[in-house]
Amino acid sequence: MEARRAMAAPALKFDESVGYPSAMPRPIRATIRASALRHNLKLAREAAGQAKLWAVLKANAYGHGLERAALALAEADGYAVLDFQEAARLRLAGVTKPILMLEGFFRPLDVNLLFKYDLTPVIHNAEQVELLRHLDFPSALDLYLKVNSGMNRLGFGVDAVRVQYNALRLLPGVREITLMTHFADAEGEEGIVGQLRWFEELVRGLEAPRSLANSAALLRFKEAREGWARPGLMLYGCSPFADWSAADIGLRPAMTLASELIAVQELAPGERVGYGFGFEAKEPMTIGVVACGYADGYPRHAPTGTPVLVKDRRSRVVGRVSMDMLCVDITDVEEAYIGTPVTLWGENLPAEEVAAAAGTVAYELLCALAPRVPVHEEP
Ligand SMILES: *Cc1c(COP(=O)(O)O)cnc(C)c1O
Repeated sequence: MEARRAMAAPALKFDESVGYPSAMPRPIRATIRASALRHNLKLAREAAGQAKLWAVLKANAYGHGLERAALALAEADGYAVLDFQEAARLRLAGVTKPILMLEGFFRPLDVNLLFKYDLTPVIHNAEQVELLRHLDFPSALDLYLKVNSGMNRLGFGVDAVRVQYNALRLLPGVREITLMTHFADAEGEEGIVGQLRWFEELVRGLEAPRSLANSAALLRFKEAREGWARPGLMLYGCSPFADWSAADIGLRPAMTLASELIAVQELAPGERVGYGFGFEAKEPMTIGVVACGYADGYPRHAPTGTPVLVKDRRSRVVGRVSMDMLCVDITDVEEAYIGTPVTLWGENLPAEEVAAAAGTVAYELLCALAPRVPVHEEP
């Protein structure tokens, strides 16, 4: 009995020299290239002509890190976010440019923050207008009036645009009103023609600046390059289009998610891989296990066949993605061992392609990057 107890209670001693923060992280990491962000902004600038640019930094700058992206995109004319925490963080980081709140304010108390942090809200519902009408403005406020041109998400439609515009125009605290709308299918078949025509109809005669274009509209439609454009995705180096790649546009991926093989398995025909035995080898195969799973932000629904790069060779995911690992086919990749680098998306493997294989969009992959993934910044 005594011996057993002694064995069950080993003397554990915590060795500070191997503890956090000196411990090595898992092999996975995201590399964020500031030079790519700057380059993509330059492309947006060229596409925009005379229009000014809001760099859209919502969702932690599409996963790239809010302050990091703001710094790299310092040549933008302003930043667009939708969370007051994000706006406050930008001001605390020293940002003095305009900040656009894409969904305006959510609760009455938020209104104080507009003034405290000098923010430009998008006004999209009647409650917001009512609140402003009864407000004692501590200082002048620029605002955006959101017009619902057919997307039917946010904004005022045919019966309300003019009423609300006029109501806001009468308020002495309101300085500039910009008319804004958002396109539902600028990257797709419909394009923007119908929505743009309806928008023009709704705001006809109102003398005010405009803000229309997201990345797709900015790249594809000259007529949307007016006033203040609002590119997001393209700044991060991804193409919004299925038939016009980032490389063809000239964009450079700002985020590369990479990891390493941590195990190798030889499969005989009939052997299977992973949860649910989601993949079965038809012939002898070699499988590499990558330290990357859905808890890192890799999509769990990425099926067998989703592209990956092992070293510099294109390969594919096999079987079901698990929380911390996924498996790849390395049968034809000579010299793939434990420690061999694997690119999940980014440099040489567009996130758009991975997203398409997984039935989603690059937006979702980028902004799902998990906080546990260490980020390496390159200038
Ligand atoms: C997110 C967002 C954008 C940016 O869209 P991208 O497709 O990423 O360029 C522009 N405008 C509004 C209102 C948005 O919510």
